[in-house]
Amino acid sequence: MWHANSEGGHWLVHFRRDLRDWESLMLEDLLTKIGDCTFSENEDSWVWIWSRKGRFTVKSMYKHLIDEKFTRIGNRVVFPSGLVWGMELPMNIKLFFWSLFLGKTLTRQNLVNRGLEISTCCPLCNLLPESVEHLFLHFPLVLELWFDLLRSKQHLLIKLYEADFVRTWFSQWPTTSGNGLLVRVWSYLPYAVAWITLKSRNNKVFNEGVPQLRRWRCHGIGAAIGLAGTASVSGTWC
Ligand SMILES: [Zn+2]
Repeated sequence: MWHANSEGGHWLVHFRRDLRDWESLMLEDLLTKIGDCTFSENEDSWVWIWSRKGRFTVKSMYKHLIDEKFTRIGNRVVFPSGLVWGMELPMNIKLFFWSLFLGKTLTRQNLVNRGLEISTCCPLCNLLPESVEHLFLHFPLVLELWFDLLRSKQHLLIKLYEADFVRTWFSQWPTTSGNGLLVRVWSYLPYAVAWITLKSRNNKVFNEGVPQLRRWRCHGIGAAIGLAGTASVSGTWC
């Protein structure tokens, strides 16, 4: 119970039996949490402690959960939400990039991680496990395509080779200057390549289609131009 005195007051806690060690720690934690509480004669009311105004918002709940997770794992990796939700992309493609940046896209490696009993071998090259990073960053045809597209930008190719995560590669993608359409095509280029990579992979898995660099390049650039020209290019992208 709360014991009020001239200096404010303090908590008096009594138990019928002695506490075990782990219970003492819990009590200590509880007293730390409620130690700063002060009481008044006013009527009680609910207060949401994770927002400044004391009112519940989804944003404050989300922030609290993320902060708690970061504290637990000791590593703060901020999800690049602007690279997904800030882009003018059809919603199904935004959802694809959301899962891609989280590393959750259903590659064979991720399917095996979820309990499926299949081979993890990449269906495109049959060389390495089909992880997200392998398929979207370091798969030989993807590297060849980027080598083609970035011939005059070797420093960018090095960043691609060095990228450990897809989101790192996208985060490092630079802006360019020039006319409006060129700037937009450039900014959508990595999205177009990743999307065409997924489609080519699915075409191989489900239709036995053989991936060809020339077609891949044409479709990739076409998708980037289509998207940059107008946001309603579902025919090209979907
Ligand atoms: Zn492969």
